[in-house]
Amino acid sequence: MIKDPSKHLLPKFLHESGFLRLFVASQRNKIAILMLHGVIDPDTSAAWKPLRSQLSTEQLTRALSVLASYYHFVSLSEAVEMLAGTRPLIPNSLVLTFDDGYRNNLTFALPILRRFKAPATMFLCTGNITKQTPFWFDRLDYAVQSMAHESTSRHVIPELMEIDFSNKEALKKSFTTFIRKEKKRYTTDTDMRSAMANLTERLEQHSGHGLAEIFANDPWSGILNWEEIREVAALGVHFGSHGVDHTLLGLVPLSIARQEFIESQKMIEYYTGQPCIHLAYPDGSFNQEVISLARDCNYTSAVTIVSGLNQPGDEALALRRIAFPHSDSPAEVIIAASGLSAQWQKVKKNIPNLYSTGRKKIQ
Ligand SMILES: [Zn+2]
Repeated sequence: MIKDPSKHLLPKFLHESGFLRLFVASQRNKIAILMLHGVIDPDTSAAWKPLRSQLSTEQLTRALSVLASYYHFVSLSEAVEMLAGTRPLIPNSLVLTFDDGYRNNLTFALPILRRFKAPATMFLCTGNITKQTPFWFDRLDYAVQSMAHESTSRHVIPELMEIDFSNKEALKKSFTTFIRKEKKRYTTDTDMRSAMANLTERLEQHSGHGLAEIFANDPWSGILNWEEIREVAALGVHFGSHGVDHTLLGLVPLSIARQEFIESQKMIEYYTGQPCIHLAYPDGSFNQEVISLARDCNYTSAVTIVSGLNQPGDEALALRRIAFPHSDSPAEVIIAASGLSAQWQKVKKNIPNLYSTGRKKIQ
């Protein structure tokens, strides 16, 4: 079997042999856009910890110091202009983007970004901000974890049959699989949302606990408010739209998508005083019609979760992004940011026989 180069000793070898530096140089005319969510100091006192993987302040600091020796940090606007050919391309440009607008982006990530002079765009869900309500996925995560001590009565919630509560790792894995499956099960955003809301309410009723109790001061799930956004916008932080309600734009009627685009844009422009021209499709859900609509609504770029780098001439309303590596290894950070890992995944997909039939086929 061929091993994934992002694992084991290979990353270290690629790094120390100078191969990674050569690879990054060969990709100099492409732009990397990295995607982050929450960032937190693990020593911060909190009532809980989400099951989805979170980036620590230490990992962010280490990764940025490695990236700084390979890349030039540029803003998303600069990158979009470079891709459009209206600004000279800076070799090995890299952009940082944060989805969802967690307050910890400000309290924990921003001071680190400043140290590295790294600009960032933060994508906001304006409905959640105005109503100060948690995201449905954080609320469900909290509700599921609140059932950990209800071992004798968990059977009353049939969906929990798919969740393995035996230890934290098993819980994390089975919950991630469950969410992924649920997202695929429904063909409309409304159906998926109402099924998840219904499940969350039953869990909260059963355990007697809900994220709403701690949300306001929770360092994990707490989101920015308009006052905080206004303050940091004045200090030069850029904001973009992540819709109103974290709606999956490829799974709603175009009239709803239009409403999401226009309403979020209006709110962000009002509170930041900056033009809102960048979008991040929630969960990376979009299609050709959504792209055209975004263009009609005066967005100049939109980022997806399609993994890879961007080059001049690419569709600016469907830019590729790379998940920010949650790793302590400098080699793994560069393997991810350079797009090498994404390329390797693509190769693996195109040669499934090497993996399904193992050694016999590749002797
Ligand atoms: Zn999101």
